[in-house]
Amino acid sequence: MTTQQPPKDVSSLDAELASLDLAGRLALAAQIGRAVFTTSLGIEDQLITAAIANHRLPIDVSTLETGRLFPETAALIDETEERFGITIQRFHPEQDDIDNYARRYGLNGFYDSVEARHACCHVRKLKPLARALAGAEVWITGLRRGQSGNRATTPFAEFDAERNLIKINPLADWDIEAIRAEVARDGIPVNPLHARGYPSIGCEPCTRAIKPGEPERAGRWWWENDEKRECGLHVPEPAASSTIPAAN
Ligand code: SF4
Repeated sequence: MTTQQPPKDVSSLDAELASLDLAGRLALAAQIGRAVFTTSLGIEDQLITAAIANHRLPIDVSTLETGRLFPETAALIDETEERFGITIQRFHPEQDDIDNYARRYGLNGFYDSVEARHACCHVRKLKPLARALAGAEVWITGLRRGQSGNRATTPFAEFDAERNLIKINPLADWDIEAIRAEVARDGIPVNPLHARGYPSIGCEPCTRAIKPGEPERAGRWWWENDEKRECGLHVPEPAASSTIPAAN
């Protein structure tokens, strides 16, 4: 397998992004090449979507419609499109993949093992993400250093060798209070679940409200013990989950 080499200027891009405000960071990202922002409709992502729309930046806004989203999240996709006059491109899992998963693990088999959980995320998130990013040179995300310990060193710009593109995290240094203040000031629509104890919102069966004092992402895949649990979008998924054999 050929290992992709990072562009030589990623570190200087990172430094340049650090000196800019949010709109400036997004504008610079769009200048690099075809840029795609993937939103999960969380509060960080809503701030980025608002900036893209308000500054009319040439950045595609996409979301992974996993089929297991909260109704509140699905409604917010429509509300956000209407509010900002934009189209959020929805990327769905393939029905054959869903059927094969259900035959092998059961529809909610993700509760039974980490392998089954990663396999579900692979089918419902990673494969649609690959389609969302097809042809993109830049991937914009709402990752923040304050979201969890394993996101604590999130840079503004990094080379994603697996996907051969530059990943830009324009809110890497923002804290949640600054985001809440900005969103409130501009009346940006947010997921009502945030006010009910869900700072991080993923698929409905895999997200619970957090308790006071818990880390922001403690409600994601709460039944697993691994403190670094992720879905594979932003860290490589285990090799065991990379394929789902078709059921006979
Ligand atoms: S978060 Fe849960 S339901 Fe959503 S893709 Fe991952 S395992 Fe499946």
